[in-house]
Amino acid sequence: MKQLKQFALLAVALLTMLTSCQTTPVADGDYDNYPVYEGDDLEMTVDERGTNFTLWSPTADSVMLRIYNDGVGGEPIDVRYMERKSQQEPWRTAFEEALYGKFYTFSIHHQGEWLAETPGAYARAVGVNGRRAAIIDMNATDPEGWESDVRPALNQFTDIIIYEMHHRDFSIHASAGNQYGGKFLALTQEGTRSPEGEMTGIDHLKELGITHVHILPSYDYGSVNESRPDSAQYNWGYDPVNYNTPEGSYSTNAFDPATRIREMKQMVQALHRNGIRVILDVVYNHTYINDGSNFSLTTPGYYYRHKDDGSYADASACGNETASEREMVRNYIVNSVKYWAEEYHFDGFRFDLMGIHDIETMKAVRAELDKIDPTIFVYGEGWAAQAPVIAGDDCAMKANAYKMPGVAVFSDDLRDGVKGHFSQATGRGFATGEKGCEESVKFGIVGAIQHPQINYELVNYSKAPYTNHPTQVINYVSCHDDMCLTDKLRASMPDADEKTLQRYARLAQTIVFTSQGVPFMFTGEEIFRDKKGVHNSYCSPDEVNAIDWSLKHSNREQFNYYRDLIQLRKSHPAFRLATAELVNNHLQFIEGTPEQVVAYTLNGHAGGDEWEQIVVAFNGSDKAADITIPEGQWKVIAHDATIDLEGKNTIEGSHATVAPSAALILAR
Ligand code: CA
Repeated sequence: MKQLKQFALLAVALLTMLTSCQTTPVADGDYDNYPVYEGDDLEMTVDERGTNFTLWSPTADSVMLRIYNDGVGGEPIDVRYMERKSQQEPWRTAFEEALYGKFYTFSIHHQGEWLAETPGAYARAVGVNGRRAAIIDMNATDPEGWESDVRPALNQFTDIIIYEMHHRDFSIHASAGNQYGGKFLALTQEGTRSPEGEMTGIDHLKELGITHVHILPSYDYGSVNESRPDSAQYNWGYDPVNYNTPEGSYSTNAFDPATRIREMKQMVQALHRNGIRVILDVVYNHTYINDGSNFSLTTPGYYYRHKDDGSYADASACGNETASEREMVRNYIVNSVKYWAEEYHFDGFRFDLMGIHDIETMKAVRAELDKIDPTIFVYGEGWAAQAPVIAGDDCAMKANAYKMPGVAVFSDDLRDGVKGHFSQATGRGFATGEKGCEESVKFGIVGAIQHPQINYELVNYSKAPYTNHPTQVINYVSCHDDMCLTDKLRASMPDADEKTLQRYARLAQTIVFTSQGVPFMFTGEEIFRDKKGVHNSYCSPDEVNAIDWSLKHSNREQFNYYRDLIQLRKSHPAFRLATAELVNNHLQFIEGTPEQVVAYTLNGHAGGDEWEQIVVAFNGSDKAADITIPEGQWKVIAHDATIDLEGKNTIEGSHATVAPSAALILAR
């Protein structure tokens, strides 16, 4: 009987489609001709006047909506077919009441079969593990005081100091002293301390002085079972399921759709209250699964690029690559980013494998965010795991950064130039005594712009500048990928003791934090945490990933160095020049320095700095180096792996000695 009813409804739907369709039907797979839907009401809207469902699926021949009482299990309490006026229109159905508290799924009939149920691609609230979308009152998810939440002040992108973290790494270890270890709420707790009395959590971030927290993927991903919150599960989350909802395992109750939303907002609010902006890592370039993804189950094929043989193209090396150049995919990405910025007040977005996306999409993201707040920061990995199947000139690759004003890229040039090759564990860089890295370091110092004193032929990876301005480059020596800095130093300098390794780390980070551009650091490096040598710890247990905060006490001097280094950058605009013109006018390399030494001056109160002139020199060799400096008396700000922000010691003359494996910073 039920089958008969379904058949009858299907026949009606097909008849409706055939009689009302004025244009040639869009063939399945003819993606460029799929009708574009301009409305902003996909896929569910709800208020006191009712609940409306709208699914964009041009080549489905029937769509079924199911309503449930729960996020998982049980039978649907309502099942109905959605309708459309023509193939040009989305599928719709409506209820006269607000279905708050209910859940829903779509299922489409396509090429002769019913596909699996899906919460859709646009769900903004979901039940446990993201299987069903939830109907909730979003206004009720706002924490107290949310209406007065404001982004901390930011004048220019080069003022940013990024701290990249995973929720669980940062707060799960007992030494973090955080009752919400591994949860969004961990970043709302003030006053947490390690057993030795050192600040942890949000207090630690303030003590360190960073301006932006970059949280690893925190949208709903697939690899952690949210229904088992007490089991130790770990994943970075680069396996997206629902792009527009927070991950349930970071909430205190993954079964209640509103809890994860409210708690993520509380996290943003608490960080804002403490003067810290928040960046979301977004992974629109691929999905966890192919045919079974929410994209595939709503509009088969459309969201992905394919090879000539029809199989999935795979520039992500995760099984697929999305097709940002298609209008509804571009709209999807742009609207998703806008949503996180507006609904959750996020202050920046880090695009995973951004090189898979097309340039037009990244420019559209920038343009839409500018309308909300031009200080929202956008950056990404300007590469892909394999070549995407669109033209290289169209890809948002590092080399094309200059075509995307206001979008920044990670500089692997400086990263590997300073510490050595990312995947060759024993490979060394400038800071660990490798010869021939000088031009790669100089490339980083100027923020990857055109500068007349750089020989680009000798830069490790990029043989040409790629940014218009230093605001477009992220300088760093490590991130969640590959070995963390401590492990990399141990692997590449196996004979060095811990104190010497920390000295290399200080040199490496001094290069990062004094360079023009946007500095970035990986969580825990300030207390010399390690990851037990694991290169790819994306699913490693807490024993590898969790930060033991007792290290803050034992490595206190290392922490102090990082803190002072950050303070140096924040106090002196000469290190934060925002335009290529300023860098070229004020930054001059000192010629004739010894091998393995890079030195430069920042001249003429650069950027309005109180210091009239600054000398910065880096010595990557294991011998003291003599350099020529402008004649006169100088305050010694950094020397022999120490920093003195006040510069109590002075030197005089036209020569200075740079200690082995150390930075020298002089000012007057
Ligand atoms: Ca999840």
